[in-house]
Amino acid sequence: LTDKVISEDRVVARLKEALGAGAVLTGAEIPERNCADETRLSPSRPAALALPRTTDDVSAVLRICHETGQPVVTQGGMTGLAAGAHPLDGEVALSLEKLAGVEEVDPIAGTLTARAGTPLAAVQAAAEEAGFLCGIDLGARGSCTIGGNVATNAGGHQVLRYGMTRKNVLGLEVVQADGTVVSSMNKMLKNNTGYDWTQLFIGSEGTLGIVTRVVLGLHPKPGHVETALVAVRDVSAAMALLNRLETEFGGGLLVFEGMWREFVAAAVERIGLSMPFTEEHELLVLTEVSASAERTSDVLGALMEEGIVVDALLARSGTDSQRLWAYRESVYDYGRFQTTFQGFDISIPRGSIGAAVDDLRIMARERWPDFLHVVFGHIADSNLHIMTGPTHLDQPMTAADKALIEEGVYEVVRRHAGSVSAEHGIGRTKRRWLGHSRSPEELALMRTLKTALDPKNILNPGRVL
Ligand SMILES: Cc1cc2nc3c(=O)[nH]c(=O)nc-3n(C[C@H](O)[C@H](O)[C@H](O)COP(=O)(O)OP(=O)(O)OC[C@H]3O[C@@H](n4cnc5c(N)ncnc54)[C@H](O)[C@@H]3O)c2cc1C
Repeated sequence: LTDKVISEDRVVARLKEALGAGAVLTGAEIPERNCADETRLSPSRPAALALPRTTDDVSAVLRICHETGQPVVTQGGMTGLAAGAHPLDGEVALSLEKLAGVEEVDPIAGTLTARAGTPLAAVQAAAEEAGFLCGIDLGARGSCTIGGNVATNAGGHQVLRYGMTRKNVLGLEVVQADGTVVSSMNKMLKNNTGYDWTQLFIGSEGTLGIVTRVVLGLHPKPGHVETALVAVRDVSAAMALLNRLETEFGGGLLVFEGMWREFVAAAVERIGLSMPFTEEHELLVLTEVSASAERTSDVLGALMEEGIVVDALLARSGTDSQRLWAYRESVYDYGRFQTTFQGFDISIPRGSIGAAVDDLRIMARERWPDFLHVVFGHIADSNLHIMTGPTHLDQPMTAADKALIEEGVYEVVRRHAGSVSAEHGIGRTKRRWLGHSRSPEELALMRTLKTALDPKNILNPGRVL
């Protein structure tokens, strides 16, 4: 232990020398925000917190850590849900929070260049101000960073129209494990000059290198947007609705979010929202289209006559639209009645979603009849979120319950050839389940890449692999 402390002290002294004393914090100086991410694990204080302001600073930190074999955990906005940025004992936390700011919006190329620690909301605002739309959007937009979005290949509400983060990135600057800076701040849509190494770092969750700057491709802003809440009989009807909306509105279909009946009941009974329709329906779809109110209303009317849609509410104002979004966002208020719960972020091929939800319901009813189990999510992207846990603040959920529920849910995922992580990543919490969605050969290839790029395993050790 003494050797460990001496070696940590030496690393800290060298980091202070390289960055300046004010940019390297230790002990009680380290703010709470750097001790835990949104995964809700118990907070843990890193050995030191490095706050680089430039790419050269990041490079200096990694050079020192590489030479000394010092493990580093990279931190963005700390909104991650897989404990990737949650520090482990003895790690140096490297936070990108001071390496922030939009550097440029290029209106001719249609690109935006930002430093990794820039909050997503600031990136969106800069794009908007220049008359463009940023294709990445998620509930954590105010706190998450563009570097974290790239590292996790974040998804969100707009994936259906603009793709995952990967599809929006044109160029990257990355600092490798030994401190080498590698840069391709590419602004062109077409660039087939050898391997596109930038794609390798997107979604690598900080295990292969640290993202310091990002070039995003921007999109034209959609025109008038209509929001509707649509009731359907079942998943097959929802898929028929999706198909028809894609045909009718083409690239104008922006959002398609599913909420099963238990989810809507929780929004009404636990969060206090009003019943959206007079009757309960198996599945509600929150959708947004870039079209006039008249055209949207005509299309939904026709779909009702054909029996694909059972009932529908069309927002008449911005306030109305927020009222409809409140159902989807009610999940962010579950802390009002639950202190412990299990959240899942899985993918199931679209054709199997109905059967998988039935399997999840059977498992829940048989084994945990007292718990609340809700399913919702970005169903057009095959992505289901599940929240499961007690219905009252004082009702316990034991570690054994959590482990068994996890096993049950991931067994359903395996049975339906799904993915144990649709958009939140593997981090530390889902590492054990990676083999449900990736073959031994794929895992071996991932290890080969990790060893080649980070031979001393200093970058986010114990995450993903
Ligand atoms: C309310 C809420 C809603 C959410 N909704 C969504 C959603 O719809 N879709 C979705 O995909 N996610 C969602 N998330 C999860 C989370 O916001 C995303 O994973 C986000 O991309 C994380 O960004 P961050 O800056 O907070 O990263 P952090 O949490 O700080 O880090 C996440 C991972 O990325 C690594 N990392 C961070 N920055 C860098 C960098 N510059 N270089 C290399 N590695 C880095 C970390 O080491 C860690 O492994 C949500 C979270 C919350 C709390």
